[in-house]
Amino acid sequence: MVNLVWTIINLDSSVSDSTIQGWIAAAGIPSCFRFVFQSPFANAWTLNTVYVGGVPMPITPWTIIISSATDPRFNWAVTGASGMAIPTLQQATVGHWGNESGSEMGTRMWHEILHCYDLPADSLQTSERAEFIEYLRTTGSPHYSGFVSDPLGYENSANHTQILIAFYIYLMHKYMECECFRLGCGEQPSVPSDEPYVPPYVPPESGSGTDNKWLWIGVVGLLWILL
Ligand SMILES: [Zn+2]
Repeated sequence: MVNLVWTIINLDSSVSDSTIQGWIAAAGIPSCFRFVFQSPFANAWTLNTVYVGGVPMPITPWTIIISSATDPRFNWAVTGASGMAIPTLQQATVGHWGNESGSEMGTRMWHEILHCYDLPADSLQTSERAEFIEYLRTTGSPHYSGFVSDPLGYENSANHTQILIAFYIYLMHKYMECECFRLGCGEQPSVPSDEPYVPPYVPPESGSGTDNKWLWIGVVGLLWILL
């Protein structure tokens, strides 16, 4: 069984973990994928210099980093990209410029995550296109007529994020065995925080089970003596 739990390291001080959780929900990333947040301590990531200037990459598998694309520690501008994945290590990173919608950011994360399962996330207009069009037709997608008449134009239209979302769901149907697709895609569960769980203080009830036990032993002992 392949891992489906992703750790998020948030290096972007302009967004909270709950904002990122909102991106995931806005894109509708299926609940096959679960997300937990890790504190962004210094040794949890490294500068990947495949691109000049570098972008932050995790050092552990099944981990994705969110960083500000304008953070001077990195150089997203030079990459000409907003995301990168190392599929063999299951490590991913996305940049956040600040003007994206929540669904756009969630879709960007989703794209890099799919690369980490070796899914052809870049093949919307190439090897997967014909089958994807057929999928849109047979599922009665509202994007079918627009996409089939002008695939490139439709991808670059205002429907950009929505057609990507449809494509990623298609890829997951085709290549992954996700329980949620059999049950109907559910909502993302709430993400546990880094704070350790402290149960609320409950005052002990008077007359607890233990006290009752000794009371009954006393009563039985008294009866024994009387008999
Ligand atoms: Zn890609």
